[in-house]
Amino acid sequence: MKIKAAVFRDDSGVPSIEELDLTGPGPGEVLVRITATGVCHTDLKSAGAGSPVPKPTVLGHEGAGIVEEVGAGVSKVAPGDPVVMTFDSCGACPSCRDAQPSYCHNTNHFVSSRPQSEYYLKADGEPVHGDFFSQSSFATHAIGTERSVVKVRDDAPLEQLGPLGCGVQTGAGAVLNEFKMKPGQTLAVFGSGTLGLSAIMAARISGAARVIAIDRHAHRLELAAELGADDTILAGNEPIDEQVLDLTGGGVDFTLDTTSVPEVMSQAIQVLAPRGTCAFVTGAWDGSPLPVPIRHLVGGGRIIRGIGEGGSNPDVFIPRLVDFFMDGRLPIDRLSTKYAFEDIAQAFHDSHEGDTIKPLLMMG
Ligand SMILES: [Zn+2]
Ligand SMILES: [Zn+2]
Repeated sequence: MKIKAAVFRDDSGVPSIEELDLTGPGPGEVLVRITATGVCHTDLKSAGAGSPVPKPTVLGHEGAGIVEEVGAGVSKVAPGDPVVMTFDSCGACPSCRDAQPSYCHNTNHFVSSRPQSEYYLKADGEPVHGDFFSQSSFATHAIGTERSVVKVRDDAPLEQLGPLGCGVQTGAGAVLNEFKMKPGQTLAVFGSGTLGLSAIMAARISGAARVIAIDRHAHRLELAAELGADDTILAGNEPIDEQVLDLTGGGVDFTLDTTSVPEVMSQAIQVLAPRGTCAFVTGAWDGSPLPVPIRHLVGGGRIIRGIGEGGSNPDVFIPRLVDFFMDGRLPIDRLSTKYAFEDIAQAFHDSHEGDTIKPLLMMG
């Protein structure tokens, strides 16, 4: 079939909207007609220079849409079902068998697992990579796997739900699945984009006693306060760590870094209370190491850890997030700004500049 897709052909970060040929779905795969796709910072990084993603490629990994066709052997969803597309996993490794598919041993979200001969996207006969996070959903249609699509309730506004597949589940999952925050505990979030704001909303759901939001943009901090942050700190003036320690009288139980800026990451470790946990949900792509303050960790029993995709088991967690959204406790529509698919370059620009928190590309 013919589809329209945003093709990234070089490292400029600017795609061209092209007509491509799509074949499939193959066995175990699901063809989805995309309603809307969120733009995540991982898309921006993957589009630019230094990315491990081979080109030409179609990016996009926060798709939501309607199942159009299923391949042989698929029983989880059927044509007509509303679905959120998310990361794939093998289903057989120790993590997957333990219902922790975000830590799958056998899945690389950035490089296609499909052999060259099986590429299902072609531009005038030339193969185009179409397996980014097992979806490549900057397109009118995308193919996922049975494990990477999640059926959602049909009374929810599907156009808003794509970001549950990556950004929202990463931030909210860190708090709900991995920190397992309890009432009375405290959280400081470094970076108030989609990940940070989702973590703040999740902390409120958890009954957090105090939530501190930190960001370089005043308008994001205003939104953070509306969504549940008790205190906000505008980065760039005085040292952040002293302000957090002053506000909390000696440190916070949990810190979440969403910036991947080494100086900020170090501060997220320094402001931990004894027995506190600092988590990183993204890292610098150049592999820059971070000095570890061992004595700070040892003396107070503090923990540093990584969290991938919010430690989510998507079949369980995404429907739960949809319920929170429909109950008004996770108002993700407050983060999003709609763009026509053709305006993808503008959406990338606005996201990069920090003007828009979560662009949603409407496929029309
Ligand atoms: Zn696995
Ligand atoms: Zn993402």
